[in-house]
Amino acid sequence: MTVQASKSVATMNGIVLDAPIFDPNAFRLNDEQTEIIARARQLGQSVFAGRAAAYDREARFPTENYRDLHRTGLLGIAIPKKHRGLGANYQTYALAAAEIGRYCGATALTWNMHVCSTLWSGPLADDLDMDAATRDEHERRRAVHYKRIVDDGAVYSQPFSEGGAAAAGGVAFGTEAKPVKGGWIVNGKKIFASLAGHADYYGVLCTEVAEGETASRRNTLYLAIAAKTDGVSVVGDWDPLGMRGTVSRTLLFKDVFVPEEAALMPRGVYFQAAMRWPHMFLTLSPTYMGLAQAAYDFTLRYLRGEVPGTPPVKRRMYPTKQIAVAQMQIKLEQIKAIWFQAVTEAGPSPSKEQVLRAYAAQYSAMEGANEIATLAIRTCGGQAMLKSLPLERIYRDSRCGALMLPWTAELCLDRIGREALYETGETDD
Ligand SMILES: Cc1cc2nc3c(=O)[nH]c(=O)nc-3n(C[C@H](O)[C@H](O)[C@H](O)COP(=O)(O)OP(=O)(O)OC[C@H]3O[C@@H](n4cnc5c(N)ncnc54)[C@H](O)[C@@H]3O)c2cc1C
Repeated sequence: MTVQASKSVATMNGIVLDAPIFDPNAFRLNDEQTEIIARARQLGQSVFAGRAAAYDREARFPTENYRDLHRTGLLGIAIPKKHRGLGANYQTYALAAAEIGRYCGATALTWNMHVCSTLWSGPLADDLDMDAATRDEHERRRAVHYKRIVDDGAVYSQPFSEGGAAAAGGVAFGTEAKPVKGGWIVNGKKIFASLAGHADYYGVLCTEVAEGETASRRNTLYLAIAAKTDGVSVVGDWDPLGMRGTVSRTLLFKDVFVPEEAALMPRGVYFQAAMRWPHMFLTLSPTYMGLAQAAYDFTLRYLRGEVPGTPPVKRRMYPTKQIAVAQMQIKLEQIKAIWFQAVTEAGPSPSKEQVLRAYAAQYSAMEGANEIATLAIRTCGGQAMLKSLPLERIYRDSRCGALMLPWTAELCLDRIGREALYETGETDD
């Protein structure tokens, strides 16, 4: 169900539009950014919010939303303008994704997997070192992927996780690509592969291992494997607590031939990105920034007696409710502040302080969204957590944020503690 904001800015087709999470003047966004982010917000509020309950209930992929993302140009949000995308930078994408997450968590999270294929191969790769010939080859190859997305609405996913230490960055991916004439033969398994059975291309992280070689993280390849290729299959069911519309089933690759043109990044560039552009792993957080805002928005409207479909009973006059709202607002502003700073300073070769801040921002958004949703349930009360209203879905979706590798809440704590106390190379021996 669509819930109207008590703080609104404009109307569109009779819908009172919510104010942006990040006010363009207060957060110094330029006109182009403001327009792209507003486009996402309007689509999220006027269309996606109304569909979110059904996707969640049926654990069904939001196919209709993807048609709308294509129609509005948002499927190509991070594709450079010379390839006919919207040319959004990292910060613009993150702010737009937060607005989508505010209205449908599963759409925002899966859209992130899709957008990363273009963000990482696009503006992020432009910041990395490549010799001229490699850059030319990358330019030629990425043009093929971008054309498919812009012209045909092709959807990409990003299966990393394998159930071992690889997705956390500890060891090489177990999914292996054996070099053969004209490409590779890929074998392996990816768990929690959002968009499984729905993406047109799976952006698979795997390790290139030639005969007699041992697997190394340096040889990670990022390959867009067409979903219809022989040897690709989707197995297992999907009936989780939250983020049910992501349809994150298991993907199997059995002797799959993948042509050289399928590379989303040239050899060695993914490893370089992981080392030099760590904010690439912060892109799962915008969804949860949006969910934090959604829980807060709902609470304000509910306590004011303004949620459509519920009796216009006001509950705002009780001091305990006011204190809860104050706590939620403080928490929301804390998340917004650190998260905005982190997505704004994302770039190559960040300082140690910036990397620690990125972990802290991820932790704050992932855990904070759930804390705000928990407070929202407690203070709005029993009637507010019925499945006819969005709050209980927001609560369940928000619980999933802390589990997202490679920067789970636990791993963020682990890294902040260690990296704050030790300089590179330091030991206690
Ligand atoms: C809704 C949803 C959608 C997802 N979509 C995708 C997707 O599209 N692509 C994708 O690749 N993955 C996806 N994932 C998977 C996700 O990123 C994790 O890989 C997955 O949740 C890990 O589950 P696990 O039980 O195997 O965790 P485990 O690997 O068993 O880890 C459990 C916990 O232990 C901790 N841990 C793990 N390794 C270490 C370590 N080395 N040091 C210290 N602590 C550690 C972490 O906190 C982790 O949360 C999705 C997950 C969810 C819930």
